Amino acid sequence: MLRAAKVQRIHAILDEHFPAPPIPLAHDDAFTLLVAVVLSAQCTDARVNQVTPQLFALARTPAALARLPVATVQAVVRPCGLAPQKAKALVGLAQQLAAEHGGVVPRDLAALERLPGVGHKTASVVLAQAFGVPTFPVDTHIHRLAWRWGLSSGRSVEQTERDLQRCFPREHWNRLHLQFIYFGRAFCPARGHCVAECPVCSWAMSQARQRVEGGIGKGRAGRRSGGRARQE
Ligand code: SF4
Repeated sequence: MLRAAKVQRIHAILDEHFPAPPIPLAHDDAFTLLVAVVLSAQCTDARVNQVTPQLFALARTPAALARLPVATVQAVVRPCGLAPQKAKALVGLAQQLAAEHGGVVPRDLAALERLPGVGHKTASVVLAQAFGVPTFPVDTHIHRLAWRWGLSSGRSVEQTERDLQRCFPREHWNRLHLQFIYFGRAFCPARGHCVAECPVCSWAMSQARQRVEGGIGKGRAGRRSGGRARQE
């Protein structure tokens, strides 16, 4: 199948299954979204949404968070994991926002990436979801799906971001980012995974890529005979 036809079909399937994907992290504005995205590293969105109301009750602006002791923030965000690093980053980024940006989250990728604890993916998510700037943030799950579906060489997350941006129209990038995430959550279970039953991999994943993934291409029989378990 030609690449353009494959991209179009994948896009249609994602639109059909997730026509209006909501932003999964609860927030009121760019700052509370930024805090939630930092907390979501190696943590589920559901857990972050349980923790942020307590944190925002203490501080919901950069100025207020900048004044909180790191130990206080750490105690609140403990359920999200990596609490010492995340607490230090949150207080640090709040201080930097207050000191250098007038207490306003900048609508600028480079400025966001200079904030403590904010990498390229976090900055891209904030630009996309708080400001509507077209980006295509790629996490490890999107990276894997793009490779399985033959949309990217899978060499690196950065390369996958560039490949996906080339595949899809710019005005759809932000929605597609969420659609990929929801697709992975709905169709990529940790166990009981079967390529033949998947709305995309069943036709889009090449035999060669299925072989690279071991048991993934063999369905249930393959798993029973010792196919390698997936990491998702
Ligand atoms: S076949 Fe498996 S890896 Fe591929 S999209 Fe479906 S559930 Fe995910």
